[in-house]
Amino acid sequence: MQNKNKFHVNLSSLLIGNVGDIKKVIIKEVELLPNNETFNNIIANIIFIRADKTIIAKGKISADAKIICSRCSEDTVQVISSNYEEEYFPYNYDIMGFHNHIEDYDNEIDLQIQKLDKRNFVDLSSTFENSLYSAISIAPKCKEHCKGICINCLKNLNYEKCLCKTH
Ligand SMILES: [Zn+2]
Ligand SMILES: [Zn+2]
Repeated sequence: MQNKNKFHVNLSSLLIGNVGDIKKVIIKEVELLPNNETFNNIIANIIFIRADKTIIAKGKISADAKIICSRCSEDTVQVISSNYEEEYFPYNYDIMGFHNHIEDYDNEIDLQIQKLDKRNFVDLSSTFENSLYSAISIAPKCKEHCKGICINCLKNLNYEKCLCKTH
């Protein structure tokens, strides 16, 4: 584990601050996660806003995504971007001046809530990863008018012509 992970953001100052306080974070990092080679050159502009008992995060992430064209199967890199919005609950409420009881969320909500860790850090990397994956098209194309592959002779029709009558 890296000590200085740029995707770990300390939100202590917002938790001890006032409702409406803002913390702006710009993250520029080559790698999103060590085991993820899909996304590179990540740029994230996030605003954290102190709400009553939570912190709201809003912003935009963009990255270079390695994709495989759904028509011609060539590897290609596309810039994708995604809007990000999340609400974070503190690990401890006492830092916000509240009694430290955990409210009774029902199980359904409990699965969805995002919590800060004990040191009031948020780890943005996996959330960014999910958000970026959701921004990739189901059928990505290397270019708008990719001609694809001839199903008969398997030539890549972006580069070669063929005489098959299948297209
Ligand atoms: Zn293509
Ligand atoms: Zn052909």
